[in-house]
Amino acid sequence: MSLILTLSELDGDTLARSSRETLTFARSLADAHGWDLHAVAVGEIPDTAMADLRAQGVAVAHALLHDQLDGDAAPAAIAAAINELHDRLGAGALVGSGTDHAAEVMAHVAARTDLPLASNCTEVAPADGGWDLTRVRWGGVLLEDVHLEADVALLTAAPHQTAAADAVSPGAAELHSFKPELDESLHITRVVERASRGGGISLATAPVVISGGRGVGSAEGFGILEELAELLGGAVGCSRVATNNGWRSHNDQVGQTGTRVAPDLYVACGISGATQHWVGCMSAKKILAINTDPEAPMVTRAHYAVIGDLHELLPALVTEVKNRRGVG
Ligand SMILES: Cc1cc2nc3c(=O)[nH]c(=O)nc-3n(C[C@H](O)[C@H](O)[C@H](O)COP(=O)(O)OP(=O)(O)OC[C@H]3O[C@@H](n4cnc5c(N)ncnc54)[C@H](O)[C@@H]3O)c2cc1C
Repeated sequence: MSLILTLSELDGDTLARSSRETLTFARSLADAHGWDLHAVAVGEIPDTAMADLRAQGVAVAHALLHDQLDGDAAPAAIAAAINELHDRLGAGALVGSGTDHAAEVMAHVAARTDLPLASNCTEVAPADGGWDLTRVRWGGVLLEDVHLEADVALLTAAPHQTAAADAVSPGAAELHSFKPELDESLHITRVVERASRGGGISLATAPVVISGGRGVGSAEGFGILEELAELLGGAVGCSRVATNNGWRSHNDQVGQTGTRVAPDLYVACGISGATQHWVGCMSAKKILAINTDPEAPMVTRAHYAVIGDLHELLPALVTEVKNRRGVG
């Protein structure tokens, strides 16, 4: 066992932020044991992404090339290809991100290899007969220490738990093309259509999230949040109360049963900060709470808070941002 194989996802021409975090996580294991770090990605790997892989200390980058490997739309086929590559390389650990896509692929890998899959890990070290792991449970409020009995560690890295950092020494990032032999029957899911929402900014990766809860009061009330989000280049999120009331789609819900976000700035408007919501936004670099209740958990936990009525504060904030930007 002398290498770790990580599944890397692309965001356009670059390596996705989640994959940079995952490579940093996997590198700690590789560095500690003198193992090589390999990356595998679906399709041709653009030069910019190769530069990212090099910076992460990747020794070899494998490009999976096959007609059936259609971006992120073929988890069963991607898993079969990774399995074939693993059979050749004999990796000691297979690591994916905790993204929906990578988690789905890794679950297929687990089924094919009959290896146990440990998801949402924050730490990993070899131990007698297997691996000692720490992983995130219950939406992020619980850390669990686990012993995994397996020859090969099959893991996903918990999203937003490892800050992506370049390796001290860049890797060689040798590019190898790998053409797996895939059966047509593996191509069981196909993406028929993709519709972009919120001006193309995804809630999960937006640098700014303006989120609203019960205090917003209505679907129309979210108009001012949309305006502020657009001005700041962000996306709109919401609490479960807003989705339950039909004010927003479930796709916008932040929290345990919604999306986990880690923006530079999270603005919580009229959201009390129940644990199930908090676990979805607690990884934000800065949190600003706007709330009438100075005792609300969101207010006491936030980096900044403004106590007041959001219906007065948000229009004033929008006007101020526009003034400073010279926008009419
Ligand atoms: C299994 C389970 C899973 C759940 N998953 C999620 C989840 O993923 N995401 C989630 O969000 N919730 C989730 N919940 C629900 C969660 O427990 C809370 O009920 C919910 O987050 C509360 O939403 P809220 O903060 O909008 O409403 P409230 O708790 O009612 O808070 C409203 C806040 O708005 C403030 N306010 C009112 N008017 C104004 C005003 N004019 N200006 C400023 N502030 C004002 C109030 O002071 C208050 O703090 C889950 C619950 C369960 C049981």
